[in-house]
Amino acid sequence: MNALRLARVRIDLAALRHNFGVLKSAANGAKVFPAIKADAYGHGMLACAQALRDLADGFVVATLGEAEALRKAGITQRIMVMQGFASLTEARLAARMMLEPVIHQAWQVDILEHGHTGLPLRVWLKIDTGMHRMGIEPEQVGVLYKRLMASGRLRGAPGFMTHFACADEPDPALTQRQIELFRRATEGLNGERSLSNSAGLLGGFDAGDDIVRPGIALYGGNPFVYGQAADHGLRPVMTLTTRLLAVREHPAGAAIGYGGTWICPEAMPVGIAAIGYGDGYPRRAPVGTPVLVNGQHAALIGRVSMDLITLDLRGIQAHPGDTVELWGAALPMDVVAQAIGTISYELTCAVGAHVAREYLNPAPSLLTAPAGG
Ligand SMILES: *Cc1c(COP(=O)(O)O)cnc(C)c1O
Repeated sequence: MNALRLARVRIDLAALRHNFGVLKSAANGAKVFPAIKADAYGHGMLACAQALRDLADGFVVATLGEAEALRKAGITQRIMVMQGFASLTEARLAARMMLEPVIHQAWQVDILEHGHTGLPLRVWLKIDTGMHRMGIEPEQVGVLYKRLMASGRLRGAPGFMTHFACADEPDPALTQRQIELFRRATEGLNGERSLSNSAGLLGGFDAGDDIVRPGIALYGGNPFVYGQAADHGLRPVMTLTTRLLAVREHPAGAAIGYGGTWICPEAMPVGIAAIGYGDGYPRRAPVGTPVLVNGQHAALIGRVSMDLITLDLRGIQAHPGDTVELWGAALPMDVVAQAIGTISYELTCAVGAHVAREYLNPAPSLLTAPAGG
């Protein structure tokens, strides 16, 4: 994050809490563990966890390091750790911090059988039902479950989880196949079930979740390749803005930016705004990517530089110092992501790693009470 730069990210915590409420209603009584890995998709992991701590039943992160940071910040909820542990030392750390690591390969069960974790450990068994990334084969579930139960290292029965590969697509067949495989692999075994991401949850699959794990929808992103986030009542959480530095008139034929790739077709005003790939705004954003200048729709022209972008200001009232919105409250991030050929997840993650963040609307209960009051 760099406070010396002009690009700014505003995180609307009221919108985050609103979106949580939307997902909680859709969850139909299941517990909701927000996915806050990758610094909460660039929104700030600790700030988001604090903002949701009185609402969320638990949290989902990727690494033990992320979970440890949450514990150190005073987060007491359950925490699922997707990448689990790779050694007895890490398993002991997970047990000591009351974390819930995911077991995705048989060698992790060996670790528990061969060494003491100190405190008993709550674990999840991840089943590969079709994503073919992480997880044990459905046929291994019975054997590994028995070994885990016999190890004497566990707190309670292992939970069962899987991850959907295609729940964002209109055809539900693949997701239904994954749900069915999961159901068969876990039939008759005692333990919590967790399957759904945002798309699984909002897609109306009847997956039988005890715990759902939404991520992008919480941040106001559309989890589907069709439709819009607003269709589900989701509100944008991150707004990325910067300042217009200059407005210049160029004649027809003037070539704009590196490589001179964009040639002015007529005499026209060109805006220069203070953001670039040094702020995490993608260099591959093409000509025509939408941008708001003073609330008016403008288009990116030329190449994205490290600190600057150039804008077509024909027909737009604009002056140096005006606010430029790259995405957020007034310009859905999904629209921008689609223009760039990516998904909103990648946009918020990249910018969140670079740009100074300001948090709006913390929950009243989270404000610090005056000392001695
Ligand atoms: C990131 C993640 C999620 C959340 O996915 P979204 O598409 O953002 O809702 C859920 N489960 C697992 C295992 C994840 O890694």
